[in-house]
Amino acid sequence: MFLLLLLSICGLLLRGDAQDRASLWRGNDRSGRCQYTFTVPSPAETSCPLAGNPEVEGLKARLSLLEVMVSQLNGGDPQPRGSQQGAGAGARAQPDLQEMLNRVTRERNLLQGEKERLEKEVKGLQMRTEEMRRETERLRSRQCPPQTPVVPHSPSHQDRDPIRPAGDSAWQYGAPGFQELKAEVTEVPAPNGNEDKTGCGELISVGEPITHRKADNIAGKYGVWMQDPEAVLPYGPDMIWRIDTIGTDVRQLFGYDDMEQLSKGFPSKVLLLPDPLESTGATLYRGSLYYQRRLSRSLIRYDLAAEHIAARRELPHAGFHGQFPYSWGGYTDIDLSVDEKGLWAVYSTSKAQGAIVISQLDPHSLEVKRSWETNIRKASVANSFIICGKLYTVASYAAPNTVINYVFDTETSQGEAVSIPFKNKYGYNSMIDYNLAQRKLFSWDNFHIVSYDLRLGRQQAN
Ligand code: CA
Repeated sequence: MFLLLLLSICGLLLRGDAQDRASLWRGNDRSGRCQYTFTVPSPAETSCPLAGNPEVEGLKARLSLLEVMVSQLNGGDPQPRGSQQGAGAGARAQPDLQEMLNRVTRERNLLQGEKERLEKEVKGLQMRTEEMRRETERLRSRQCPPQTPVVPHSPSHQDRDPIRPAGDSAWQYGAPGFQELKAEVTEVPAPNGNEDKTGCGELISVGEPITHRKADNIAGKYGVWMQDPEAVLPYGPDMIWRIDTIGTDVRQLFGYDDMEQLSKGFPSKVLLLPDPLESTGATLYRGSLYYQRRLSRSLIRYDLAAEHIAARRELPHAGFHGQFPYSWGGYTDIDLSVDEKGLWAVYSTSKAQGAIVISQLDPHSLEVKRSWETNIRKASVANSFIICGKLYTVASYAAPNTVINYVFDTETSQGEAVSIPFKNKYGYNSMIDYNLAQRKLFSWDNFHIVSYDLRLGRQQAN
């Protein structure tokens, strides 16, 4: 009988709400003897709202939340314990969570690719540092050439040495290898009445950077944006095109009706390129996109209206995939652009040992019409652009206040150092090109789509 009574009490304790609140306490009394206390709330207390241990309650809540998350990931019932939410809320949250997971995975993959690229860049820089150290040692061991009095340089073309460009020490002693740009600087002509904003003149100055749009995600850290100076229907002359170039499978070409739509981020056209693209050196001309195919020296002409590849040709001996990039890296081996004189490619070859080679291309067939080999080391400059057949190089991609430090004229095959101020507003300029349609510089600076107004001098009579 006693056993039956005891079992009934135990059953009540285990089944009832009171089980959560029954407690056993053990301690010593003053005489050192063990004392056990077993507490069970009275029926009146049991009916009161539970005021449990806040830490335990917090743990319960976190456990409940974790259960919901695990359940959602497993596709099970996402409803938390004791939750008042309807069963449909979790089901609605599931696609959102999946989308978030996909996005995080995509960004992780992009970052992984970027990490690999940066590691390669670090290795390249270490090699270049070693190469420069050896070059320095070699130069130190050589005897200094006899000093000659410095003659003030005249900017007049008639006064220039026909053999080598005046004021350019890089050309003075033949060209066994490269020479860094440390020449005497030719003063840029001050703006005067000869300024000509529509003609094909020398670059006088570059304006402040004007920001048009910031990229939405990591894929837009580097990129290229373009406008066709001779647009072909169905696309109008105001159409702006953009490619985000991070990733291993760059194929999307976004088209915006005009600058305003670009600023708002509303593309009206998205084209998927048949072959993936490499480098930020793409350009637009006469209704075609010109770009370097990934992992190759192949140039591609993609017809925007027909949406197919219209021409494909290798650029002879051109480095690609990080062989001869600009100083910022990023597979900028082949840089295509368009100016008043047509389509150009700026790159380097093993034969040129990393020096910039300029080639004028046939816009229809992509054949090289003529090439110039300069003494400008491609890896020593941040980027370059061509205006009226003159190549200009930018010294730094990161310095807020840098300079355009060199100009090479394909008309005369001569180069000279200059110093035209240029600003990198966002500290990582991955693309700089002359845009003939607006007669401005277009650039892509650390997620930002930027343009610069230009002041060009009147073309001098030859
Ligand atoms: Ca460029």
